[in-house]
Amino acid sequence: MSLDACHDLKEKADLIIYNAKIFTPDSVAGGISCIAIQKGKIIAIGSDAQIRSRYWAPDNINATGAFVYPGFTDAHSHFIGFALGLRYADLSQAQSFAEVVEILQGYRKLHPSGWIVGKGWDQNKWAKKVFPDNKLINKLFPGVPVVLTRIDGHALLASDAAIKASGISLPGKKEEAVIRDGVFSGIFLEEMADQIRGSIPLPSVSEITDLMVIATRLCHEAGLTAVTDAGLAKKEILLLDSLQKAGKITLRIDAWLSPNEENYTYFMKDTLFRTPFLRVGAVKMYADGALGSRGACLLSPYLDDSPNRGILVTTPEQLAAVCKRAYEHGFQMNTHAIGDSAVRMVLRTYSKFLKPGNNRRWRIEHAQVVNENDFSLFARYQIIPSVQATHATSDMKWARQRLGYARLQNAYAYKRLLQQNGWMPNGTDFPIEGIQPLYTFYAAVARKSPQGDPDEGYMMENALSRMDALKSITCWAAKASFTEKERGSLEVGKDADITILNTNILNAPEQKLLMSKVLYTIVNGQIVYKAR
Ligand SMILES: [Zn+2]
Repeated sequence: MSLDACHDLKEKADLIIYNAKIFTPDSVAGGISCIAIQKGKIIAIGSDAQIRSRYWAPDNINATGAFVYPGFTDAHSHFIGFALGLRYADLSQAQSFAEVVEILQGYRKLHPSGWIVGKGWDQNKWAKKVFPDNKLINKLFPGVPVVLTRIDGHALLASDAAIKASGISLPGKKEEAVIRDGVFSGIFLEEMADQIRGSIPLPSVSEITDLMVIATRLCHEAGLTAVTDAGLAKKEILLLDSLQKAGKITLRIDAWLSPNEENYTYFMKDTLFRTPFLRVGAVKMYADGALGSRGACLLSPYLDDSPNRGILVTTPEQLAAVCKRAYEHGFQMNTHAIGDSAVRMVLRTYSKFLKPGNNRRWRIEHAQVVNENDFSLFARYQIIPSVQATHATSDMKWARQRLGYARLQNAYAYKRLLQQNGWMPNGTDFPIEGIQPLYTFYAAVARKSPQGDPDEGYMMENALSRMDALKSITCWAAKASFTEKERGSLEVGKDADITILNTNILNAPEQKLLMSKVLYTIVNGQIVYKAR
């Protein structure tokens, strides 16, 4: 019998993946080795014999025993920020301020004119763990606007020329402009930092497009099929939409609104703005800053900076006003809260709107430090903690100095947070952390840095099980974006968004997890990445 005749007896699919070990988070059933895909959807799952006797496809992947997972999702990230950041000097590996300066001098050779923009420095990695000042950069780059954002995005160092170009008026808010020896050091926090960053000249639309195409490729290489963008303007969202429709961005994106009137007027309609690739159904708010720059708002002072308790950047009244609007329009609230005071404020404000048993899925982003008395509020009002497992292992070197032993017991408490609602999304907050979902998985289960420290894992009582960690980057991440009916697990009728690894991350030895290799990334039935 000819091949065609054989095809006549079978139904046509577009792509068949066979000889695989296929995971659905809900069932690790044996004997499932084959998936048939058509028009971007999974149309059949079963054994090789079952599926291949019924379907044929022009494209086939022989997985040779590899492991097939639902496409990995980052539940909290900044996609456009990551893309734009690809043009900046990367300061994240600098071990001293002198190294920062060295990187900038190298960067200047490649970019001889215009602003110098860098990001990722972290004084906690340096021998001298204090904020730098701008004296040296003023001297080395006279008249050049230099803006260097700290790793957490909540603080930056600006040269005098950048301060001038930004047009901000000094002294400004006294808690946001750091003064040293009676003069402005060039360090700015929170809103003043945002203002200075806002004055950096934007790249052209074609440059932005190129950067987003590169960012998409990097995400797919890491195994990501869906990401979030935590806080965007209308024109950014419309640009994403047009690039997705043109096939240039092949990532699914959950785009959250930055809180502004233009966004509300355009997007808060009776029907949600939703395409197969883009969902706009959440508002992003900030309640406080970050722990690293001591901007997270705590109930009692920082142990290493008393009497500083950090700052709330949004009042309860301001948050409530946005909550009201979101509630009325069926939008999610996704509010950044890191310190226990900020977390409490958001929990209490949300609870004025949410009824027990609700399905609004209002989220607290990060939920890093939670007061003992407040954990149960997550469960009582179905408020979803949205965590980033790598934050625990990035902060572990200094978190105890900031918080002290007692408070630390309720920090990065991912397992306890998971127990509140029985499900919990996980992400990276990239570009603050790297984009790799496998690092998230590893940090969640092993509670170790990528270098394997500490030996015994960091506060292991809050480690997640392998299965829970997998769910947190697949079906629970989808649920946190209201896309669980379409994605997050491998089931007939769902989108064919798939990540194939050479490793069984549910039972491989721990030290093998980070060596896992992404073999294929598939979005909407299309192979968007294939390992060489
Ligand atoms: Zn974020």
